[in-house]
Amino acid sequence: MFFEHAEEMKLTFYRGRFAPSPTGPLHFGSLVAALASCLDARAHGGEWLVRMEDVDTSRNVPGAADDILRTLEAFGFAWDGPVLYQSARLAAYAEVLEKLKSLGLAYACACSRKEIAELARRQAVDGGLVYPGRCRAGLAAGQQPRAWRLLVDDREMAFDDRVQGRIAQHLESDVGDFVLRRADGLFAYQLAVAVDDHFQGISDVVRGADLLASTPRQIWLQTCLGYAVPRYAHLPVATNPAGEKWSKQTLAPAIVATQAAGELVRALNFLGQRTPAGLAGAAVGEVWQWALAHWSFAAIPRQLAISVAANLSRSAD
Ligand SMILES: [Zn+2]
Repeated sequence: MFFEHAEEMKLTFYRGRFAPSPTGPLHFGSLVAALASCLDARAHGGEWLVRMEDVDTSRNVPGAADDILRTLEAFGFAWDGPVLYQSARLAAYAEVLEKLKSLGLAYACACSRKEIAELARRQAVDGGLVYPGRCRAGLAAGQQPRAWRLLVDDREMAFDDRVQGRIAQHLESDVGDFVLRRADGLFAYQLAVAVDDHFQGISDVVRGADLLASTPRQIWLQTCLGYAVPRYAHLPVATNPAGEKWSKQTLAPAIVATQAAGELVRALNFLGQRTPAGLAGAAVGEVWQWALAHWSFAAIPRQLAISVAANLSRSAD
């Protein structure tokens, strides 16, 4: 099996991944993350995997996963090994949750959204509310468990991001005990990502800076579970002129195969690479040849966000 030896590898071998959620077609922001993670893996002589983060079934769009894979292929991406679907990994997540319970690190929470809103005193780093810890000491008789949370403490959780520099949080005051399994029964993103990055032997996570605030939670999970901690690189996020991340919610246009070379060049330029004039008009294979030969990680702008227009390549046609 492809991932069998992840444990022994100790992350000395470069293995990266691109992990889209099948909530809609690929857009420019996801292309940037796919391209940077792939080029960084190839520049290190490493492997590059694709993982479909479809654990939140309430957000999945039928057909989107296949559409994403077809689009990646049309854009010249070639991944190593089989695509891992998180929806097929529920038994592994359940096993890890049981382990955290047995370690005394996970506990049942009976709070409703409304109760948390009433009790919370602080805004969390990612815009939510810091969980006030009401159920830490156990549930009172008659209280029904809703979610499962991971115990955190207030030590400094810090890491050196390859793009953004040193990032530090104190989870207890910045986030609070966070959810591992939601009230609707779905496993939380943080748990699934930490478990799968370990399972797949991922040494290097290259992804958008919108996930920067999640990383200390994932490192805490890795620490609790005795996993090796990958290196992280958080890329600037592509925002629209109003400063919002381009996403399905902000009506980011889908990238289309007929404009693959132009969109790849636009993504390279977004990543600070100095592409030669005329490359956007070349064949997709030639763009990849140039990118693999000239990829410079150091050229990536040390920014959290960069504003881009929706249709640069289209207006340049
Ligand atoms: Zn609670």
